[in-house]
Amino acid sequence: MNRIYLDNASTTKLLPSAALIRNEIAQTYEGNASASHSEGKKSRILIENFKEKVKKITGFSEHDVIFTPGATYGNNLAISIGSSRGRILTGDLEHASIYRFLEIPGAVSIPSDKNGLYNPELIRETLQKERFSLVSLMLASNELGTRQNIEKIAEIIALSSPKTLFHVDAVQGFSPGQWFKSSAHIDLVTLSAHKFHGPLGSGILLARSGLGDLDFIRGGGQQKFLSGTLPVDNIAATVSAMEEVWKLRNTEFEKRCAEFTSILESETKDLLVTCATSPRIPWIVNVSLPGLRGEIIVRALDTMGIIASWSSACSSGKGGLSRSLKSIGADPSRGYIRLAYSVFTTEAEVSETARTLSEIVKNYSVVL
Ligand code: PLP
Repeated sequence: MNRIYLDNASTTKLLPSAALIRNEIAQTYEGNASASHSEGKKSRILIENFKEKVKKITGFSEHDVIFTPGATYGNNLAISIGSSRGRILTGDLEHASIYRFLEIPGAVSIPSDKNGLYNPELIRETLQKERFSLVSLMLASNELGTRQNIEKIAEIIALSSPKTLFHVDAVQGFSPGQWFKSSAHIDLVTLSAHKFHGPLGSGILLARSGLGDLDFIRGGGQQKFLSGTLPVDNIAATVSAMEEVWKLRNTEFEKRCAEFTSILESETKDLLVTCATSPRIPWIVNVSLPGLRGEIIVRALDTMGIIASWSSACSSGKGGLSRSLKSIGADPSRGYIRLAYSVFTTEAEVSETARTLSEIVKNYSVVL
């Protein structure tokens, strides 16, 4: 059997249609989108069309669309907008591109509960006691797959602290079934193209207009907040992948993912799904096995042709339980790994993974 790739929360394969469009645009749009000549205008018009498409798909029609070199930039920019106004409030499940800002004096992180969810009431209490300029939380956890009640949290922020901005890292969770029910009270949203079968090094920040003019990356002023020549080809591939994946990650796909997880549960001895009863994006599943460290399980899987992750890819190699796993009070005697399906994952691949996991537990737990 070919290699089985189940690390799609880390990065996904570029869709052939997006690759084609990227190449076509790169070959036919020569002009710098900021140039005043006709070729520049042609690129500029194309970018404006792409912005409209992004607004239409995401439903954030009143927000500015800012193309970024990825979600790390988008998150850094969103937090910088917030921290230029005051203190930031974030949470224990967030990605490093957010939680590294806890180094800023006055920044606060709220814990998640044992189900991998932030308690909206805790957010209300925190905002009633202290003043924050920005709350930054994720739509879905890259490690646990849990989907936060963002709509409720947005409502609470708007009621308890109307001047506080709300930023959502929506990098994981881009699909019609998991997306925001409304854009109300959400000021900033981060996306990353390579998490939805788009190109690497490309992302989007949706920013409510009127958020100031912070010069986050200084240069020619091509975009608000972020200077730099716009990569028309990468943007074209990003928007094309968005449109395509919006169709592919449909109800049928979500159902298939839930079935994949049932196969893992029923065919692997002693396997537990982490935060199993919480609302979750069905294509990211964190599972644990007894007696083996997650890192060992992932290495063993790799030698057997199955690619998974034992924490988020960005923090792997650092040892111990990750920040998110600590936050949910994970059991250190179990090994936690993350499996993330894509629209290309098959039932046969998942069954093979379950069979291999059972083999690993049987063979390695004798050694350790
Ligand atoms: N936010 C979350 C939740 C992520 O999972 C990641 C990537 O793993 C990022 C942000 C950073 O995205 P990028 O790789 O586009 O910088």
